[in-house]
Amino acid sequence: METHVVLTVGAILLCGGFFGLLVVRLSNPFFRGLWWLGAAYAVGALGAGILSLRSNFGGIYLLMFTQSLFLLAFVLLHVCFLELMESRVLLPRLGLGLLVVQVLAYVVLVRLEYAWNYSLILMGVLVAVQALQTAFLLWDKGRGGMVAPARFCMLLLLAFAAYSVFRTAVVMRVGIPLDYTLPNPLEVPTAIVYLGTSLGLGFGVFWMTSAQIRLTLEKLANTDPLTKVANRRCFEMWCERELQRSARTGEKFSLILMDLDYFKQINDRYGHATGDAALCLVASRLQHNLRTIDMLGRWGGEEFVALLPNADREAAQQVAQRLRTCVELLSLSSLRISKSGLSDELRLTVSVGVTTYQGEKDTLATLFARCDRALYEAKTSGRNRIVASSAESRSFTESLRSLS
Ligand code: GH3
Ligand code: MG
Ligand code: MG
Repeated sequence: METHVVLTVGAILLCGGFFGLLVVRLSNPFFRGLWWLGAAYAVGALGAGILSLRSNFGGIYLLMFTQSLFLLAFVLLHVCFLELMESRVLLPRLGLGLLVVQVLAYVVLVRLEYAWNYSLILMGVLVAVQALQTAFLLWDKGRGGMVAPARFCMLLLLAFAAYSVFRTAVVMRVGIPLDYTLPNPLEVPTAIVYLGTSLGLGFGVFWMTSAQIRLTLEKLANTDPLTKVANRRCFEMWCERELQRSARTGEKFSLILMDLDYFKQINDRYGHATGDAALCLVASRLQHNLRTIDMLGRWGGEEFVALLPNADREAAQQVAQRLRTCVELLSLSSLRISKSGLSDELRLTVSVGVTTYQGEKDTLATLFARCDRALYEAKTSGRNRIVASSAESRSFTESLRSLS
């Protein structure tokens, strides 16, 4: 296969990729980083296009120019991954440094007798360094569903860097024909490796992007936007899963439903912004006072709910007591939102209903109905207290009054 055929095909594919990416990016703002991938493809297509016409134009200057274009394409790819990884700094300092080094070195190398070989050696080293930096970035940051595509891109970049080093070693050892119009055995494999890596990384970027979009959508669908704890939909899913697990294993779990007392007064006296901040503060304190295996959700307005896996009635009551106390001890003066100022005496309290899984007959509906009735009893019997439902007698017998 002739080199210029591979290069022409490569240039056409990369050019097509550039326009494809442009359309995708313009039609979907979710696809982060595609501008940079598109730019990398465009620069790569330009380089491959120029090289494919090399026999017509020729010249060491042109070769060096295309080598700079290829290095720039890898730098742009690095920026694409930086954006995909949601990095705050998009400036590829190392990449730009490598480009400067390349251009300055060319100014010197072009005067030397073996400029052709030296430029290939330099290019091999610089592009390998850039590929390794991007691979390191991908090793570091993969999360959730992004781990697999990030690893895929990382391995591709490592393989590319290894090939670059191998090619450089060959050039250093045997040199290539000084007359660059003569065929050299590494040209076709190199063109194929560059093209394959570009297309493979393009695939990897799409894979990463779709994983990222899925993570973002899952987060949006499952998180309460104000307090950042799980929303009701997500919490119900957890409960369903826990119900199925307990039906299988017979292990008990408990549910705690909490409703802030007289919360409307906070809004009325200090405004909704303070109310919102108070809700966030309560959510974070509640989360802080739960075990790592426990799950917290916002059930609605000023109601929170906690799922305690592997917790029987007594354990759940202890946790409920801890939660009730932590809300009572919360100082709202730290909010500093109300212009009128919050008085230190102002305290929030919470009423709590607790229920425990009673076996296979329990469903999500019966559990929540019991918990809700327990909470109602806590409210009607004076607030700032815990009521644990007794499923056997279907009555609510226990109420733990705050001693503090
Ligand atoms: P109690 O539960 O003790 O009976 O009294 P309450 O005042 O807490 O109960 P009620 O259900 O009457 O009022 C709940 C209030 O919670 C009403 C609403 O203004 C407030 N609320 C609900 N969701 C939000 C929210 O997202 N932000 C703010 N700031 N307030 C909210
Ligand atoms: Mg309420
Ligand atoms: Mg309330």
